[in-house]
Amino acid sequence: MAKKIDKFSYNKKSAWNIFNKTQTEQIFIFADEYKSFLNNSKTEREAIKEILKCANKKNKKIFLNKNSCAAIIVKGEKPISEGLRIVISHVDSPRLDLKQVPLFEDKDSNLALFETHYYGGIKKFQWLTIPLALHGIIIKKDGSKIHFSIGEDENDPVFQVPDILPHLSHDIQDTKKMNDAIKGENLDIAIGSIPIKDDDKDNIKKAILKKLNDDYGIIEEDFISAELEAVPAFKARDIGFDKSLIGSYGQDDRACVFCSLKSILNIKNSKYTAISLFVDKEEIGSEGATSAQSASFLRSIIKNLDPKIDIDSVLLKSKVISADVDAAVTPNYTEVFELKNSASLGNGVAMSKFTGHGGKYSANDASAEYVSEIRTLLNKMKIPWQTGELGKVDKGGGGTVAKYYSRLGMEVIDLGTPVLSMHSPFEVTSKADIYSTYLAYKAFQEY
Ligand code: MN
Ligand code: MN
Repeated sequence: MAKKIDKFSYNKKSAWNIFNKTQTEQIFIFADEYKSFLNNSKTEREAIKEILKCANKKNKKIFLNKNSCAAIIVKGEKPISEGLRIVISHVDSPRLDLKQVPLFEDKDSNLALFETHYYGGIKKFQWLTIPLALHGIIIKKDGSKIHFSIGEDENDPVFQVPDILPHLSHDIQDTKKMNDAIKGENLDIAIGSIPIKDDDKDNIKKAILKKLNDDYGIIEEDFISAELEAVPAFKARDIGFDKSLIGSYGQDDRACVFCSLKSILNIKNSKYTAISLFVDKEEIGSEGATSAQSASFLRSIIKNLDPKIDIDSVLLKSKVISADVDAAVTPNYTEVFELKNSASLGNGVAMSKFTGHGGKYSANDASAEYVSEIRTLLNKMKIPWQTGELGKVDKGGGGTVAKYYSRLGMEVIDLGTPVLSMHSPFEVTSKADIYSTYLAYKAFQEY
């Protein structure tokens, strides 16, 4: 049979077939490092701490904005006035936050529980019955700060949001719309059950307070000045007989955070000044002082690099990768994807020209010229890449930080790792895509 010749069609290829043997070995080494990063970065604060540690170890210039936002900078050959190469990713992930007055006792079930308020877009049912760890900080009356991390060590206790057994769920869950079956107010976490010996009420709650005071010196009012997050207590694991995939909490967006971090730590001889920027609060709309909507941090960094510079002209010449994960085509649910344009696991880093929903509402829509630049670069460097989009037109959609940065006059495009089961407690990525993402950011920042 004659060899098929097709020089003119665009076909997505498996990254596993593009990478050579040495690169394939690198993929698995890189993935191991990524998994430990995930295990050490279960919250935005912990991620920033890890980033700071890595930057200091490699003697890189790092700027911090409060406790959940940072930027690492590597100066290029050209002056700042010719623009920057920025990779921006977000360190926060969906989770259950504790309320300000969280502790109560349910006397009917003999349990003490914490009230929570979910953060980011979660499918609530996924967060019931799984082992949860508690991470975060408590600031005591005297101003001292306690760092919390309980549930990660094998000998630590974990916590759980109880669910009703299937025998009794007919009326209150099974016959309801999925979204109404579990109420946000019912995502309370069970934290203990032994009462103190007392004739009074709330004896389990009192016992918990006593235990917390013995262990940490805290009183109930201290929860008001705390940030405590319940996150899945799972560790990052390999998935599949071939160990090609990674399952872990928080890969949106710590996949891109890690790739951006590794890129800025490893780049050499960059033409333009490169910045890896790590922001918070993306999952709640990039609101607040540490988010992508607050441009003061970036402006102050530019000023710091060159006090006499006209910041706006630098911004206008700068180029940005919005480093956020993309939806991966999901088996059994392919009907919500338009498959020609969607990203699949293992086909490399995903490029989305635009985000948003409806008629590209609330989108950043990268120019064809900028898309061409990125496409040419990725092809030249033989980095596996594919197009991505967040589902069929009018099926849903979503945004990234891209639109906030493009408003500053910079060219911005979304480029990130495809994720399966996004926003679930155990998200899935392909190791080949993670490595492609890293190579893409590095090529961009060095170029
Ligand atoms: Mn994201
Ligand atoms: Mn997200």
